[in-house]
Amino acid sequence: MHELGIVFYIIRDVKQVAEENSVKHVSKVVMNIGEVSTVVPEYLTDCWRWAADKEDLLRGCELEVQTIGAVSFCEDCKTEFGTVAHGKTCPCCGSGKTYLLRGNEVEIKEIEIKEE
Ligand SMILES: [Zn+2]
Repeated sequence: MHELGIVFYIIRDVKQVAEENSVKHVSKVVMNIGEVSTVVPEYLTDCWRWAADKEDLLRGCELEVQTIGAVSFCEDCKTEFGTVAHGKTCPCCGSGKTYLLRGNEVEIKEIEIKEE
């Protein structure tokens, strides 16, 4: 259960951006969460609600999670394949020399500010 720690990182980053831009209130934060990132979106949004409402800047602010599908790449046959379906073994040639291309993201994609 490390979602709360991630929420505090998000809040810190959003606060910093808000300060730099003299923003008083943020209405929505959009996150990219990779399919194999180990972050559970439901826990993340639960923790977010709890923590964000303690901050004036983020009271009532929505957290939207966009899932990034995990894709791996095979070094032997240069094929891209779904990591969740096939794991570390290439479905085309059976090679184990594969690595994750995307799907491990935990990053802020967008910060939305409602105009007063
Ligand atoms: Zn292959």
